[in-house]
Amino acid sequence: MESTLSARDRVGVQDFLLLENYTSEAAFIENLRRRYKENLIYTYIGSVLVSVNPYKELEIYSKQHMERYRGVNFYEISPHIFALADNSYRAVRTERRDQCILISGESGAGKTEASKKILQYYTTMCPTRHNTHYIRERLLQSNPVLEAFGNAKTLRNDNSSRFGKYMDVQFDYKGAPIGGHIINYLLEKSRVVHQNHGERSFHIFYQLLESGDNSLLTRLGLQKTNPQHYHYLVKVCVCVNLKVYFSFVCFCERTFVMIFTLHIIYICNLLFSLSFSLSFSFSLSLSCHHYQGNCPRLLGVAGSALSEALTHKKLHILFVGEKTMISPLNLDQVLSARDALAKAIYGRTFTWLVQKINQSLAFQDEVYYTSKCSSVIGLLDIYGFEVFQQNSFEQFCINYCNEKLQQLFIELTLKSEQEEYEAEGIGWETVEYFNNKIICDLVEEKFRGIIAILDEECLRPGDASDITFLEKLEDTLGGHAHFVTHKLANGKTRKAVGREEFRLLHYAGEVNYNVTGFLDKNNDLLYRNLKEVMCQSGNQIVKQCFHPDELIDQRRPETAATQFKLSLAGLMDILILKEPSYMRCIKPNNGKQPGQFEEVLIRHQVKYLGLMENLRVRRAGFAYRRSFEAFLQRYKPLCPDTWPNWRGQLLDGVSTLVKHLNYKPEEYRLGRTKIFIRFPKTLFLTEDALEI
Ligand code: ATP
Ligand code: MG
Repeated sequence: MESTLSARDRVGVQDFLLLENYTSEAAFIENLRRRYKENLIYTYIGSVLVSVNPYKELEIYSKQHMERYRGVNFYEISPHIFALADNSYRAVRTERRDQCILISGESGAGKTEASKKILQYYTTMCPTRHNTHYIRERLLQSNPVLEAFGNAKTLRNDNSSRFGKYMDVQFDYKGAPIGGHIINYLLEKSRVVHQNHGERSFHIFYQLLESGDNSLLTRLGLQKTNPQHYHYLVKVCVCVNLKVYFSFVCFCERTFVMIFTLHIIYICNLLFSLSFSLSFSFSLSLSCHHYQGNCPRLLGVAGSALSEALTHKKLHILFVGEKTMISPLNLDQVLSARDALAKAIYGRTFTWLVQKINQSLAFQDEVYYTSKCSSVIGLLDIYGFEVFQQNSFEQFCINYCNEKLQQLFIELTLKSEQEEYEAEGIGWETVEYFNNKIICDLVEEKFRGIIAILDEECLRPGDASDITFLEKLEDTLGGHAHFVTHKLANGKTRKAVGREEFRLLHYAGEVNYNVTGFLDKNNDLLYRNLKEVMCQSGNQIVKQCFHPDELIDQRRPETAATQFKLSLAGLMDILILKEPSYMRCIKPNNGKQPGQFEEVLIRHQVKYLGLMENLRVRRAGFAYRRSFEAFLQRYKPLCPDTWPNWRGQLLDGVSTLVKHLNYKPEEYRLGRTKIFIRFPKTLFLTEDALEI
């Protein structure tokens, strides 16, 4: 433990609970800064691990380091992600309690790297079960495959995950990894059709053009070429031999080719950059592009049918004896139909890919699995709070997700605090905290919630628009303490709210959302006749992604926000049954540079990660708690009666020790198995006494 005064001055405290001035944000950030300067990127808030991205390789992840953390108590050694991983693993091994590790932080903060390190820890340190060696490789290699299809270069992160990911690692009763399962959330599929300046589409496209072997490229009708040649792409990125990774997750060559085949359509300029030459013509058709023949062929559909479906809308008119009318689309509509198709194919293929990976990770022995002889550790790598200059539907969903996770955090942390106090026979002390349930309800409540109102506007025929949606929000939510618009400002907030914006007062701070595009993004519609064409495809993967049942089902598909709400509810159900550990990642600068600690940026994240609130809740009771055994073991040299060994009851030993150390009654409590110390100072003085 980094304990003496001089060491604390230099490297700060390794647990924020030990900060003297724990309500001061400045003291919090100063502690982070000191540690970061010394390359100590990890610090605890109790059992929560905070990390600051070093943006350089540190020599702290070797096998020797892993071994150092195996079986060691959290506090005996400097904070580390391996300590977190090992702690959860031990709970699985010894108590057979399902665990989850929730990693959050903004883009580029190091979430995905952290989840990979945890996975590496398990695949390196855990025993192997007979006949399941392959599972380690598959667990590890599922990452590069998913990253190829789900990650992209953005301004914030060269390898940004554009989807949320929850991964279960299953262990048998001996603690050997035997399987896994992945759930994906909200892929940013709009990236296939549009990227902001300086950003790219998903890695896979560039990897294919760079490293696809010639025979594959020929089969796909492609040339090894500059991606700028292709309408949807911009710049080449690093090449990775994906074929090798695919083989690890058990895809055969044929499947591999088919996946690429599917994605080729985007590279083929999705049919028509030609359309521009035909602007305003009502008879757009697919012609004149030299890739045009490839696209329907690769999709396994008839060229003429695809062409027709992309350029015409089919209407069923019921009152004249069920008649179908075909009307041509204008150029804007055609382009948006094209983009909707590209997004649908990409999104569905991604989901299909996750299913395939899950099949390859599934533990084979069903009987064994269902007999509940296994436990799991779930890893959640999901987008943190996002606050940009302009915030749209995506940020709304992401921040809603963070409200839900905060809600879970409150429930589980306070619950576990309470349980521990009760188990130890110490009276419960009320902890004041802000319960963000009110904001979760504001977003998700039936009928009156923002998502319900949005869905209602999406369904309403006639003049529904983003602006009528905003007006409806104002009508319904006018008096809500956490909802503000231009009209409703009433001095509730300092910053201005634009005429097309609404503001939510999130638990972590205020965010303005611009409603432009909300309805379209929420609808996420694919014209029926395009679905029909895709359902008739001869391509095996397309067939699995577009099922004819969809056409029979007359119900309207769930909107994007409702789908997300349902998948989050599912996630909460999974997490609530597990014992959680938390990791909060911080990005120290926007330049991706090592050694640069930008205070303003960090303060912003400390706020949005809710770290001060977190610290306050944990410090409301006792700053420090240890088992009698660990406490005695460490401090027994300080008392002649306990040194070299205490032979009686542990409780009596600790009692003797603290009396000798002159602890005042208000400074500590003795529970059934643990000592609780209220102030860090008490502990520091004891630590310092050890050094003398
Ligand atoms: P996003 O939300 O965009 O997916 P993220 O939080 O997952 O972001 P990562 O991709 O994990 O961010 O990290 C961004 C980059 O920061 C990595 O590519 C790597 O260069 C660097 N990095 C992150 N963590 C570490 C670490 N522990 N050691 C060294 N470099 C790191
Ligand atoms: Mg990531």
